[in-house]
Amino acid sequence: MSPDRPFPTETRTVDAVVVGAGFAGLYAIHRLRGLGLRVLCIEAAPDVGGTWYWNKYPGARCDVPSLEYSYSFSEELQQEWTWSERFASQPEILRYIRHVAERFDLRRDIVFGTRVTSARFDEARKGWTLATDTGLAVQARFFVAASGCLSAARTPDVPGIANFKGPLYHSGQWPEQAVDLQGLRVGVIGTGSSGIQIIPEVARVARQVVVFQRTPNFSVPARNRPLMQEEQAAFKRDYAQHRARARESNDGMLGLGIPTQPTFSVDEAQRLRTYDARWEHGGAAAVLTPYTDLLTDRAANETLGEFVRGKIRATVRDAEVADKLTPRDHYIGTKRLCQDTGYYDTYNQPHVKLVDIRRSPIEQVTASGITTREGHHELDVLVFATGYDAVTGPLLAMDARGRGGLRLADKWAEGPKAYLGLVTAGFPNLFIVTGPGSPSVKGNMVHSIEQHVNFIADCVAHMQAQDLSLLDADPQAEDRWCEHVREVADRTLFPLADSWYVGANIPGKPRVFLPYVGGIPAYRKTCERVVANGYEGFRLQ
Ligand code: FAD
Repeated sequence: MSPDRPFPTETRTVDAVVVGAGFAGLYAIHRLRGLGLRVLCIEAAPDVGGTWYWNKYPGARCDVPSLEYSYSFSEELQQEWTWSERFASQPEILRYIRHVAERFDLRRDIVFGTRVTSARFDEARKGWTLATDTGLAVQARFFVAASGCLSAARTPDVPGIANFKGPLYHSGQWPEQAVDLQGLRVGVIGTGSSGIQIIPEVARVARQVVVFQRTPNFSVPARNRPLMQEEQAAFKRDYAQHRARARESNDGMLGLGIPTQPTFSVDEAQRLRTYDARWEHGGAAAVLTPYTDLLTDRAANETLGEFVRGKIRATVRDAEVADKLTPRDHYIGTKRLCQDTGYYDTYNQPHVKLVDIRRSPIEQVTASGITTREGHHELDVLVFATGYDAVTGPLLAMDARGRGGLRLADKWAEGPKAYLGLVTAGFPNLFIVTGPGSPSVKGNMVHSIEQHVNFIADCVAHMQAQDLSLLDADPQAEDRWCEHVREVADRTLFPLADSWYVGANIPGKPRVFLPYVGGIPAYRKTCERVVANGYEGFRLQ
């Protein structure tokens, strides 16, 4: 036994093992239990919440409106829960998830503080055996990977990092205990979605903030605000209709409605008025969706990109800093469009400094700070907001081995292959929630999670009804789906950007566009057709 796979001290046998107790894992427990299955969930964290447990960093907040970023499966739940803000903060979402866990009595089937280190398919038993870092082993017919798309935090390999004598935090592994940055000199590395949320909050309390930026990202104002009681009550009166309308949009969100016109069907003055109105409304979903072709047509995209660049120039007083903050290497929206509260304005404060590490690369971390080509920055604390090994990272970390001992890492060496992003040929009875080749990170994820878990539970119910015990993907159907995912992405501007959507943030990761960008309605219809045709593309026996 290798050190990461201690000899099993306890083996538990259930019908379905679920890995992860975030939005996906919790709903999977609930649905699978509802089918009469014995379910066990394994979670590395000491509590439920997933993303919203781990990301306790200052300023952590959801970019989807709170009334939409929530479960829809229970009318009672969505009526009884009250959100306090337009976009919920991490503590509030965590409270909500804890409430869901209590309300549906989910904790009794979750083992916390336990990480799955390997998963083996056993042909004779037609099921899986999972090993963990605590010695617990679990045998189950079905293995549901609800391990998250953004749960494998990544800290870049900066020389000398171990020498730093102060504390070092990653946004995605923020400590449970409050971190006091009052009066300290804080270095923040990374200006993606998390960095953009953290930086203004850190600047409020720190003596000095040094931001190390590799790539400037586009960010739009969230315009977060308290949710008025009457506004919330009105929304809840028509909750089902709002959910149904959101499901018809490509990103699973209501936004300001589904666009109908191409960009150049209106003149420039009209276009700028529209962009301005949406900028004032706030939220990435609103800013990105006024026209149909913003993510497919370069010239159309540039009109919006230029509009936001103008906003950066108008906000940041120092022209040189504004220039450094201005994205020019990707089309707006082709990397995750960030949403902020006062991000650009933060750079007008005298104690906030921006270091462009493209021009002045980090040479090393020393005991007292960071040395770049242009000099040394004395720092008390380092905050890494350097993102995740997205989508495939958590799956590969479980070292799954399917039929004939096939390693998932070998099968996916050239990039992930999964049928509908849900199953991968050669790994029977393994279901992936929001896997590669499904809409996953391209939209309201709670919506996509519910759709996937419903698909999985309905599939298991079908197998029970038909007395079937094995499910696999047809490799040809899988290839066709992966090809379709690629073709659809290639019709857009998305693959042009060096984003985490293509794994560009992870050295050596194969460049494959990970999510399906054909839109949530098209994806759902495909799933429905697959089921209507007797689970077309699946092999059931
Ligand atoms: P997660 O919440 O990631 O949960 C997966 C769980 O699996 C984790 O708790 C992890 O510990 C556990 N796990 C993983 N591997 C193992 C293992 N080997 N053994 C045991 N346990 C394991 N989505 C949106 O739609 N809108 C947003 O605005 C938005 N904002 C986000 C902001 C941040 C900072 C981050 C990181 C993500 C954001 N997301 C957002 C995406 C978010 O991850 C999803 O919305 C959603 O929370 C995912 O739920 P999940 O249950 O699928 O995965």
